[in-house]
Amino acid sequence: MNPSPYDFVILGAGVGGLVSANLLAKKGYKVLLLEAHYHCGGCASFYDHRGFSFDVGATTFSGFAYNGPLKKIEKLLGLKFEGVEPELPMQIHLEDLTLNRYRDNERWIKELSENFPGLDHHSVWTHLSSLNKRSWELMNELRSFPPTGLSDFTKLFNPKLFKGVGLLPSLLKSLESNFSNYYQDKTTFKKVLDEQLMISVQNKVSQVALLTSAMGLCYPEDIVVPTGGFKEFNRVLSESFTSLGGELLMRHQVESFKKSGDQFVISTNKGEFIGKKVISNIPYWTLAHDLDSPFKSDFRKTIQKFEDCWGAMTGYMKVKLKKPQDIPYHQVHLQEGGSLFFSFSTPGDTEKAPEGHQSVSVSTHIRPEKFDSFSRRDDNYKAMKENFKETITKTFSETFKQSGIESFEVTAVGTPLTFERYTGRHRGFVGGVVHHLSRPPILFPRHESKVDGFYVVGDSTFPGQGVVGVTQGALLLCDRF
Ligand SMILES: Cc1cc2nc3c(=O)[nH]c(=O)nc-3n(C[C@H](O)[C@H](O)[C@H](O)COP(=O)(O)OP(=O)(O)OC[C@H]3O[C@@H](n4cnc5c(N)ncnc54)[C@H](O)[C@@H]3O)c2cc1C
Repeated sequence: MNPSPYDFVILGAGVGGLVSANLLAKKGYKVLLLEAHYHCGGCASFYDHRGFSFDVGATTFSGFAYNGPLKKIEKLLGLKFEGVEPELPMQIHLEDLTLNRYRDNERWIKELSENFPGLDHHSVWTHLSSLNKRSWELMNELRSFPPTGLSDFTKLFNPKLFKGVGLLPSLLKSLESNFSNYYQDKTTFKKVLDEQLMISVQNKVSQVALLTSAMGLCYPEDIVVPTGGFKEFNRVLSESFTSLGGELLMRHQVESFKKSGDQFVISTNKGEFIGKKVISNIPYWTLAHDLDSPFKSDFRKTIQKFEDCWGAMTGYMKVKLKKPQDIPYHQVHLQEGGSLFFSFSTPGDTEKAPEGHQSVSVSTHIRPEKFDSFSRRDDNYKAMKENFKETITKTFSETFKQSGIESFEVTAVGTPLTFERYTGRHRGFVGGVVHHLSRPPILFPRHESKVDGFYVVGDSTFPGQGVVGVTQGALLLCDRF
């Protein structure tokens, strides 16, 4: 006799899959979570190497302030994500200047005023911080959003949501048009703002809505350094899921799926599974181009306006400094343009590095099309990786020489081909839908796909990228069931 079908089969155990699986299992549904890799986490996963543990993609946590999505998950599931909230989470290194990006807005405004005098930092950052707070408060009130049917629209008749109407104008203009004297062309300060925004919303200040800039630029107010890295976050979520009765199958690569009557048949490298509903944490780009199903053209229609994604180059370092680095995040501007983002493990976090050492993940944006013609064995590809390793080595040696570098080693370099291989993301597209003024997040691909009973969660859907965005998306989706 065939076992009864699962209520939900979830494809992929990235942040979106893990959070959705937990929320549905908590509601009492019979849930199966299928993951291709031998670790959960996807772009927020890790790898271990001789006593060190490296976060492969995401390194910063946010979404705890203003009762944000991560705080909600902790409450709903009775979990605790351990982390550290440093007063000074980030430094920005540019030319001869080092800027302290304090968590506290007043201290940050003072830092800016001292280093970039003559600009009205106070008015701008007070406004941005207030917009950020109001956006999160509004986001907390959303249910079953973006709306698809009448019952979803009725949920919008909430007096608290009407307060959000005041935020609409900041979706229609940029920071540049709102504060024209502030974001001036060809200034070092413009570069500071642009590079800061790139790491949170994947675009520059002139290209995104003021509201999006506010949320992206203010995210250091809410940064938490995950203790034990994302390995620990994934452990907590996967153990919670199985203790709620969920079934997690690792190394189960979904190869295709189809509909049979009103159920879905999911074929993996290790057999078939039947689900009444499917939630795909495999992003729309992969569903549209790579994964075998009769619905590829439907997915292609959904995602076609959102294919301008970024890829990432990453590096993973073992570091020993005389004076351990206790500021976890460093954005270093490069002379040739762009920046490198160094994330240090907390000194003494022995889950991440042996005593006296630190594990460091480095990342930067890169256009994925540069890799379209490469295979992993190409000499040009190998040269590109070697080049990046040299850039990391040079930048690290110069930026952190004051800390007394005793030893360091770049143990591995990742590219869009690496992300494609380990996370299955089409062409190594990472970082989610790129924000742009022309397409506010409400127009991002929805969780409800064009296929009845098939849903998508993760950074290819509303409200977009990052652990915080993906978690919020999973909360909104699972609220429907
Ligand atoms: C270099 C880098 C740095 C980043 N830094 C940050 C940061 O500091 N803070 C932050 O919040 N965000 C950061 N991000 C973004 C963040 O990591 C992602 O937005 C988020 O983790 C995406 O989660 P997801 O659930 O949407 O998808 P994914 O992480 O892609 O998860 C999808 C899962 O599905 C699995 N899968 C794929 N195909 C199959 C298949 N056929 N069968 C079974 N399973 C499959 C994958 O293995 C994976 O586990 C960063 C991303 C990168 C790449």
